[in-house]
Amino acid sequence: MKLKDADLFRQRGLIGESWQDARSGKTVEVTNPATQLVLGTIPDMGAAETRDAIEAASRAFKSWKKKTNAERATLLEAWHALMLEHEEDLAHILTLEQGKPLAESRGEIRYGASFVKWFAEEARRICGSTIPSPTPDRRILVMKEAVGVCGIITPWNFPNAMITRKVAPALAAGCTVVIKPSEFTPYSALALGVLAERAGIPAGVINIVTGMPADIGGELLGNETVRKISFTGSTRVGALLMRGAADSIKRLSLELGGNAPFIVFDDADLDLAVDGAIASKFRNGGQTCVCANRILVQSGIYDAFAGKLAERVAQMKVGAGTEDGVMIGPMINAAAIDKIERHVEDALSKGARILAQSDLVPDGRQFARPIVLGGATTGMLLASEETFGPVAPLFRFEAEEEAIAIANGTPFGLAAYFYTQDLSRSWRVAEALEFGMVGLNTGAISTEVAPFGGVKQSGLGREGSQLGIEEYLEAKALHVGGL
Ligand code: NAD
Repeated sequence: MKLKDADLFRQRGLIGESWQDARSGKTVEVTNPATQLVLGTIPDMGAAETRDAIEAASRAFKSWKKKTNAERATLLEAWHALMLEHEEDLAHILTLEQGKPLAESRGEIRYGASFVKWFAEEARRICGSTIPSPTPDRRILVMKEAVGVCGIITPWNFPNAMITRKVAPALAAGCTVVIKPSEFTPYSALALGVLAERAGIPAGVINIVTGMPADIGGELLGNETVRKISFTGSTRVGALLMRGAADSIKRLSLELGGNAPFIVFDDADLDLAVDGAIASKFRNGGQTCVCANRILVQSGIYDAFAGKLAERVAQMKVGAGTEDGVMIGPMINAAAIDKIERHVEDALSKGARILAQSDLVPDGRQFARPIVLGGATTGMLLASEETFGPVAPLFRFEAEEEAIAIANGTPFGLAAYFYTQDLSRSWRVAEALEFGMVGLNTGAISTEVAPFGGVKQSGLGREGSQLGIEEYLEAKALHVGGL
């Protein structure tokens, strides 16, 4: 791996002040999804190393929570500055292990860093309240205190930003963390650990345990010192963690799967809608939790929208994320390709047809062909599951109520998008959609300043915004009597 700062590429976990191998000496290989070549290894850590990391986090918590909020903010700001200074190397590591085009990786580093900056600022604004006492001889105050040691479990699709979105508010609040990054993309997490050390964040405040999930997850759930689990990933694993957290009543934040509808009404601005669909559907090769999964298009605009979208998709270049002009990188692994193929075959067998596909696809098992499918219906697999790939299925509808019923007809409720120029419809539909985030005439809904999160089976809690730090704070009521 060619980096300006080779020290950012670490192949060991971080526990307290030391970078460590697994006690067993065992390792797990990490591959570049574009080439299938091995990038390096990570320690295959388990319960024992996780316990060590929890103990290190618990020791560090005693002094970290006592720092002033301004001291914690200053350290987070130093971390933020280092992330921006090393943007190019961090983006390079991200593209090599995850696959997305370099331009998108640079965007993710800036997006990830924005949470560190935002929560450094929020650290200074944590405040409690006073409550009018029911009797004259008492006073009541509400104080905000750090939750404690937090287990942070993150997915492979945004290996930088999904970590900072959790760790920055945790640290700002005074918590310490044990991070378990995805085994597919551990190097972005480890590089963040190097920069945190350089920023002067004390040893033990951030610990990173690498390896396969079951044993690490088991210890994070079972260990009573861990007071909170913050997880981003699939709904299946989220449910498993929720069950596991029950025995020691841990707090939970869950950012889970989505099945986003993208609704284009007859009165939409056509070009804006096509641009939004391209951005929302094809960013990160369609491997995002908020990406348009079902594109619902009203009859009157269906042909025009399909034609413009098809033209754009046919020109999409697929390839390694390090190559110039590539818009779609490789999919993360063979299982991802299998799922995409299964969804397309199922749709075609049930009456969908291919409106356009790109031929600019290199050989290689892990490259998926961008496709627009017409005639999609709700009985197809791609209507009920996240496809997580560059497949844009178009569903035709007639009436507004029909679109809302289809859009809400899923157990998920993360993101939804719709395009219209009618003011009344804008409010009606925005209020009718059962989702945590709604984009009206925009496909861009991710920013550190707004709450990010879902309803229904898409999760619990919110990240980013003023709400994000509350997930790491307890309210303690102090009653003062005898006055
Ligand atoms: P995943 O659920 O398979 O894995 C996520 C993380 O959980 C990984 O680190 C994995 O190693 C770990 N994990 C797996 N089994 C575990 C266990 N038994 N105990 C503890 N940890 C365990 O998800 P993924 O495939 O990495 O990510 C894709 C999913 O994430 C999609 O469903 C996507 O929609 C979702 N996602 C959601 C958001 C959001 O903000 N809502 C953001 C990004 C991704």
